[in-house]
Amino acid sequence: MIGKLIILWHYLRTKYRFRLMGRDRLKRWQLKRILRHLKAVRRLSPFYREHWGHSSLAEWERLPAIDKTLMMEHFDKLNTLGIRKDDAFRIALEAEHSRDFSPMIGNVTIGLSSGTSGNRGLFLVSARERLAWVGCVTAKVLPRSLFHRERIAFFLRANSNLYGSVDSGSLKFDFYDLLDPLEEHISKLNGSLPTLLVAPPSVLRFLADAKRSGRLQIAPLKIVSVAETLDPLDERYIREAFGQIVHQIYQCTEGFLASTCAHGTLHLNEDIVCIQKEYLDAKLRKFVPVITDFSRRAQPIVRYRLNDILTEAAAPCPCGSPFTAIERIEGRCDDMVYLRPSRRQGPLVPLFPDFLTRVVITSAPVVQQYRIVQHAPDKIDIFLLVEDAERQRVQEAVLLSLESLCRRMECALPFVRFRDYDHTPGAVKLRRVERRFALEADHQAV
Ligand SMILES: [Zn+2]
Repeated sequence: MIGKLIILWHYLRTKYRFRLMGRDRLKRWQLKRILRHLKAVRRLSPFYREHWGHSSLAEWERLPAIDKTLMMEHFDKLNTLGIRKDDAFRIALEAEHSRDFSPMIGNVTIGLSSGTSGNRGLFLVSARERLAWVGCVTAKVLPRSLFHRERIAFFLRANSNLYGSVDSGSLKFDFYDLLDPLEEHISKLNGSLPTLLVAPPSVLRFLADAKRSGRLQIAPLKIVSVAETLDPLDERYIREAFGQIVHQIYQCTEGFLASTCAHGTLHLNEDIVCIQKEYLDAKLRKFVPVITDFSRRAQPIVRYRLNDILTEAAAPCPCGSPFTAIERIEGRCDDMVYLRPSRRQGPLVPLFPDFLTRVVITSAPVVQQYRIVQHAPDKIDIFLLVEDAERQRVQEAVLLSLESLCRRMECALPFVRFRDYDHTPGAVKLRRVERRFALEADHQAV
């Protein structure tokens, strides 16, 4: 009963509290919350206490930042519940292998982010934080008010009881395991007729095909893209197949960071996190988010530098929300493409993944799917799905467009190999632009 009230309180707060709040008032409200939160974190987390030293919290914006490596390295002393990394990992991995999806220590939920085995993030969510999260997510994501019956289809690589806790009363929650064959999901979906469909864009894209061919008969009230970046190519395809806006949730191990409003614009969730912008290119409005979550204490996230590239919207959203509007989540910093400079001397030239995306999409609108993999500064594979009759012409157009991008950026045209598109949605995360070589200091100085 208390649990339901906590959810309801957070639901109502998320829905109504910030509606008419101007940006200035929001920032003042946020600052108060942050300072209160940081005081508690300093008291409860030995790691942060040491990390911040004698810095004044009044100048919290300049506190030393952290990242995933540092967080995982100091996990035991960073979390405020005294939970050890080894124990949390063991329990989370066991749950993943048995796919029973309810890893807990006491009443603390343990989550495990995807990634290569040495590079996985752990997160802890207390019972109270879980209820607050449910209130906040339902307010931001449900197609109608909390009091309507909704049937939610959720496609995930790994479930967590964070999501299971949404399953109550009027919300019926069906979990679709991405490790199962996709064809099976179509008949299950036709049987359950979800009102809310939540899936990675590569899967939504597959479902869009099924919808177009008539095999999939669902008509959800709302479609939400999660877990992978939403490429403009997929956004258009899914929107046209289902005849509605494709919404997005930007949620990762580190927090629930952004979600779309009724207009389909992504807004930072500045009612629970503060996001500082570390600009990569101020003119292009591209930045790396440095996040401070002032709503979670179990595993405090303070001035955490995320490995993602976001583009701020050029104009405010017509919805009038005081929360920062985001034009696009572009992908990981690790997927920046680096090419050799055309003058032969000097450091490698960085290119945003988005530049490569546009090379393909704008030069050849008939491209149905693509992937770009960079293997070395002078070697790129471009995987294309196009009609056979178009292939030659499309490859030439893409190459021309890449040449002109290289001229503009003053870098040497890499050796390009065209290949057939081969990605199957499901177990493996789709990255449209991917860099597969590590950037070393000597690479940059070549
Ligand atoms: Zn908006």
